[in-house]
Amino acid sequence: MISAKSKKPVAAWLSYDYFKEEQRAIKCLTVILRTTGCYWRKCRMCGFWHESADVTQADILAQLEHSLRNSPGDDFILKIFTSGSFLDEREISRNTRREIAAMVKARKEIRKLIVETRPEFMNKARIEDLNSIEHLEIAIGLETADDFIRSNYINKGFSFDNYRTAAEIANECGATVKTYLLLKPPFVSEKRAIEDVIKSAELVYPYSTTISLNLCNVQKYTQLEYLWTKKYYRPPWLWSAIEAIKGIKRNHEIVVMSDPVGAGHIRGPHNCGSCDSTVKEAIQNFNVTQDLSVFDCMYCDCKAVWHTVLRFDKFLFGSEPV
Ligand SMILES: [Zn+2]
Repeated sequence: MISAKSKKPVAAWLSYDYFKEEQRAIKCLTVILRTTGCYWRKCRMCGFWHESADVTQADILAQLEHSLRNSPGDDFILKIFTSGSFLDEREISRNTRREIAAMVKARKEIRKLIVETRPEFMNKARIEDLNSIEHLEIAIGLETADDFIRSNYINKGFSFDNYRTAAEIANECGATVKTYLLLKPPFVSEKRAIEDVIKSAELVYPYSTTISLNLCNVQKYTQLEYLWTKKYYRPPWLWSAIEAIKGIKRNHEIVVMSDPVGAGHIRGPHNCGSCDSTVKEAIQNFNVTQDLSVFDCMYCDCKAVWHTVLRFDKFLFGSEPV
């Protein structure tokens, strides 16, 4: 049974993305390859490593071939994620990386390749194996520019300096960098979470062409799930996501994306239940238009509750007198 599973990806789906090189919306094929998984496995909110399996390098190539059979006929962006690091050679060997580069290059309709890695695996030789591709983007899950939050609350295991060095290597090799920021890590209040991603964005602008705002959701078998079941965590409000997107995007050329995974569910980013799907659609609309006006005039009664949560943030946290 394991061998059948190992020849198919964890998931593959088609969606739309913003193609900044041509300033237009474009189809996007996302493929999650099943590999041996992330070696770190200590981030409090991440359960992706449960998708790992004992797979061979031939299995990984078979997974990608299987996914590409359903690719769109016209131009598209290919995103390959591994629930770990594409540039970690324990997951994807050097030969497999080169084979994947050749497969991508052979398909002219693939206009851009996006892969993700932790910063410790970024080096010139590994990126150069992929450089034959027209547009190459390397995604890094920085989560926040604040070293205290990243190491103590997320347990990410690398510093902002590590990120900066990795991003500079990618840029020197001609690749663009997409930086993931996490809205509302555990132990961070709603208001501080918004402030943290906006401040973090300011610090990553010099190295990134895209910021992807991940709205924290409660994955199974994680420390975050344990906190959530004990009522020590609430996923971010979708109003907070809009506020953060506005703050990050305003007056900047940078592309801002946010895939509202799990929006409207109790484990995902949510508002009151009745406005969630409308807000989610607005965020998806923003992703392909980069136009902040999609958020104009959005209203629901629950917005007043959210405003109150923000207004009394410091008081509720006990750090400000009445
Ligand atoms: Zn509402």
